Amino acid sequence: MKIVFLGATREVGRSGFLVKTKEGNALLDYGVQPTREPAFPMHVQPKDVDAVLLTHAHLDHSGAIPLFFISERTELYATDLTIELTKLLIEDFLKISGFYLPFEYIDLLSMMRMAHGLKLYEQIKIKGLTAKFLEAGHIPGSASIILEGEGTRILYTGDIHTCDSLLLRSADAEFGELDVVITESTYANANHPPREDVEKEFVEFAREVVERGGTLLVPAFSVGRAQEVACVLKKYNFPHPVAMDGMALKTNEILFRYQEYLRDPTLFRKSIESIELITSWSQRRRIVQTPSVIISPAGMLVGGASVFYNHTISKNSKNAITIVSYQIPGTPGRTLLDKGIAIINGKPKKVKAEVRRFDFSFHSGRKELLEMFKGIKGSPKVYTVHGDEENCVKLAEELSIEIGLDAIAPKTGDIHSF
Ligand SMILES: [Zn+2]
Ligand SMILES: [Zn+2]
Repeated sequence: MKIVFLGATREVGRSGFLVKTKEGNALLDYGVQPTREPAFPMHVQPKDVDAVLLTHAHLDHSGAIPLFFISERTELYATDLTIELTKLLIEDFLKISGFYLPFEYIDLLSMMRMAHGLKLYEQIKIKGLTAKFLEAGHIPGSASIILEGEGTRILYTGDIHTCDSLLLRSADAEFGELDVVITESTYANANHPPREDVEKEFVEFAREVVERGGTLLVPAFSVGRAQEVACVLKKYNFPHPVAMDGMALKTNEILFRYQEYLRDPTLFRKSIESIELITSWSQRRRIVQTPSVIISPAGMLVGGASVFYNHTISKNSKNAITIVSYQIPGTPGRTLLDKGIAIINGKPKKVKAEVRRFDFSFHSGRKELLEMFKGIKGSPKVYTVHGDEENCVKLAEELSIEIGLDAIAPKTGDIHSF
């Protein structure tokens, strides 16, 4: 068996790992780097791929998959919820970045026709390979994948969160004996603060902003993070208006149909029922002037309604913007966080609103990653990916020194054989 590292090596974005055996080949994720001009993983001939196995809907894992449905037809496997959410996110991606993309809407439709929606723990066979999808705790529908073939058993974590959140159950950590692990390293160098502390601080800050007459913008990913923030505000009975906008609303509708993927469907339902759902420009113009909390995609301010809200909200020091997720370098969200600058009508402007970061991570931190590896059976070869260079290298070192595993941070184009 061979693994080819196509992307997300020493970087976050454009994940893609090709597993080749004598009988057949499976591709684990095929995403894009969602910067202004999207970057892709290394090229693979569609005819060389028997199946694409997708861990979750995020574009850095899914965004380039339609490329396999332009001339050829391969099979796509993911959880049923991931398939629906992926369609939603790629449709939006085509709207925002279509100009730069080498595929079209029609290719997305071909992809949907070849998509097999699985339930967690369902086992599938692809030409001598067996795959199983386990709970990953990262976004609704997300999975880690166990792939087995030619006597080698691989775990690909995808993006993984081994703690409970309000919205999702924690990831499965029982993998059985493993020969190879491809692990994410997003926060391999950082420990997350206790979740309840973050929740309380966030709600207190939101209350402070609204009570001083300000509006708080929470740019949040439409899938998962937006709903988690709504659940946090509900859990603490936040007494002021809360609104949600953009694609997060479509996600809500989908999640109502897939409640088995949620940790607490009742809390989710109550959270959504108690907030204002923004669907028109008149509502948008009113709410942005109302002391309130506005939860709106895009999470990195690359598009969507959060860009509109940011224009108005960033100009007033009574207001605030909270960053609640990882911001990829080069995105407007990262620039806002690092430099306090927003791009308004193409020009950089100093932001007057208060900018705060809250660590609502849905990725395991250093402590959780090390704990997960301590619990793994066998002595697998480990590849650290999906983190910046420092994190991938550091995690590989720690796994070698502290747990005695043979671990490396591969580079793009590397091929490893077993
Ligand atoms: Zn993700
Ligand atoms: Zn990711």
